[in-house]
Amino acid sequence: MELYSGYVNRLVSELAALPGIGDKSAQRLAFYMINMPPEKVKRLADTMMEARSRVKYCKECFTLTDSDMCPVCSNASRDHSVIMVVEDTRDMAAYEKTGKYGGVYHVLQGAIAPMLGVGPSDIRIKELVDRCSKDDGSISEVILATNSSIEGETTAMYISKLIKPLGVKVTRIASGVPVGGDLEYIDEITLTRALDGRVEI
Ligand code: ZN
Repeated sequence: MELYSGYVNRLVSELAALPGIGDKSAQRLAFYMINMPPEKVKRLADTMMEARSRVKYCKECFTLTDSDMCPVCSNASRDHSVIMVVEDTRDMAAYEKTGKYGGVYHVLQGAIAPMLGVGPSDIRIKELVDRCSKDDGSISEVILATNSSIEGETTAMYISKLIKPLGVKVTRIASGVPVGGDLEYIDEITLTRALDGRVEI
């Protein structure tokens, strides 16, 4: 005997397929949604559809944005000669929150993780190399601010081997960021220190 209706089961299994949501949370969310006023459910569904269809990658730095170019890349008062490389848009947001960084970003949208089948061509490394390969020498520094996890370190090393031969200074943010720590969860002071203490590699 099916415990729930087929519709509830479908909703539970769709929710359970999302990252970080186990079966129990999925059930709780499903029952919550079923008891929500229909117009609220519609607003949630519409918001999800709209976000999915309207959000795109910045054509310069590949962060998620609503327009062709993100607010940082389209800001002429930022220093466009310094590129900070981060794993995802949340890391970029964490650095923006410190208000202490005046350069621009490159958002890889992931990190090299052979165990998970993520190779260099699966993230935005080629696009970074293209940005640094401009003949005009307009890039003075690339700051590698990937996480201090094994994947983040592997990615940083891989990128430095590609960028250094182009004659661009490559630096790595200071340790002090806890090993395996997600940049997103590290406080602003630690982030600022990590940035100030970066070393050339
Ligand atoms: Zn951008």
